[in-house]
Amino acid sequence: MGTTKLKKEIPISAKLIAPCGMNCRLCRAYIRKRNPCPGCRVDDDLKPATRLRCRIRNCKKMAEADVKYCICCERLPCKDLKILDKRYRTKYGMSMIENLGHIGRLGIRHFIKHEKESWRCPECGHMLCVHERHCLYCRYQRPYGCPPAPRSSLRWP
Ligand SMILES: [Zn+2]
Repeated sequence: MGTTKLKKEIPISAKLIAPCGMNCRLCRAYIRKRNPCPGCRVDDDLKPATRLRCRIRNCKKMAEADVKYCICCERLPCKDLKILDKRYRTKYGMSMIENLGHIGRLGIRHFIKHEKESWRCPECGHMLCVHERHCLYCRYQRPYGCPPAPRSSLRWP
């Protein structure tokens, strides 16, 4: 496994799905053993800089309206979310806006089940990391295409 120290396998739970649709379970900052991030939804003394800087996590609207996911926000998709989504689509092959669409259409349980299946390493069965091209456990190289921009059907019941 090399020198990378990783947490033991942790299941995905609803509290690991950030308001923006990010699955914190796949984040490098969450997986690492040294000074790990507890996830965007957990208030903790451990506050990695990226999380503190995130404009969505610190969105005033979300705090004021007690919004659980950005799908409940009338400004969806706001500029901050679009910027984040584009960066992740281009760099990491994952779309938060698509994730939100999935949660909105089929619910959080369905989304989590889908995440477990689609991010499982086909070689060793561990969860892959969205920020890495290879599996952190067995070095399997994952396909890394840029998904198309989500269709603009951003309206959910
Ligand atoms: Zn693997």
